[in-house]
Amino acid sequence: MAALWLIKTKIDEFIKKLAVSPVKRFYPTAVTNYTGVNLKEAFDYLVELERHGILHLYWEAKCPNYGCSRVLGTFEDFNAAPLGKTMNCVCGHEFELQLDDIFPIFEIDKEYREHIKSEMAEKKNQNRLVLLR
Ligand SMILES: [Zn+2]
Repeated sequence: MAALWLIKTKIDEFIKKLAVSPVKRFYPTAVTNYTGVNLKEAFDYLVELERHGILHLYWEAKCPNYGCSRVLGTFEDFNAAPLGKTMNCVCGHEFELQLDDIFPIFEIDKEYREHIKSEMAEKKNQNRLVLLR
């Protein structure tokens, strides 16, 4: 198990980089790929950031057809996903929605993104002033 401060430092850095990029939503696996933190520990910390209002958690129902993976629905509440319901995808695949077809996705809070962007811009300006001296 990784130290909590290390998990926090790595994931905070990842979120800040994303906040100033055009990416608004990401899967927990993107975090594990970028930071090397394992999925369980990464997810726990992401949920903590959700409690702080930095992230919003959604659930996506995806087509399980190999190579398709189209998003067929997004739910704020996990329990709102229609488990067991027959779904039709535009790829022609028909299936009953299973737990395995539902994936968590995190969205970065809009106001948090604005905050990080202005913080970055301020830092840039400060650096410029130093260079001008
Ligand atoms: Zn499909």
